[in-house]
Amino acid sequence: MKIIVQNEKEKDLIKRFVDLLTEYYGLDALEIHDDEMSKYPDEIPRLNADEYKLLYEEFRDRSITIDENIEEMLFENDDVITGTCKVCGIQTCGRVNGESVTYSDYLHSMSKEQQDKWLCLTCYEKQQETPA
Ligand SMILES: [Zn+2]
Repeated sequence: MKIIVQNEKEKDLIKRFVDLLTEYYGLDALEIHDDEMSKYPDEIPRLNADEYKLLYEEFRDRSITIDENIEEMLFENDDVITGTCKVCGIQTCGRVNGESVTYSDYLHSMSKEQQDKWLCLTCYEKQQETPA
């Protein structure tokens, strides 16, 4: 199996996701899944045990490559970005432009450096009006 992502940060994210699925939950997840599904015999299982094993093996042996020409992963909603205003202490989420957020944007906005200078819109606008 080959997984293609847009950049190094996405590669790290996918690697951690695959590790979570194959190392931490792995076959335990299959047993939990089978136990759960046996409680609902009329439900169509999302994955049967063979399909799960196939994916487990495939993900475990994955290679993740980067192709800068593909689209970056996006959070559709910008409310994943949150911060506490350093001036008035109010907590806000989202960005002024309301646009979708790439994973790189998310990491940048949630970094300590950015969080330390977070401003709510009101305080940001006040700061813009005040001559430096
Ligand atoms: Zn503020």
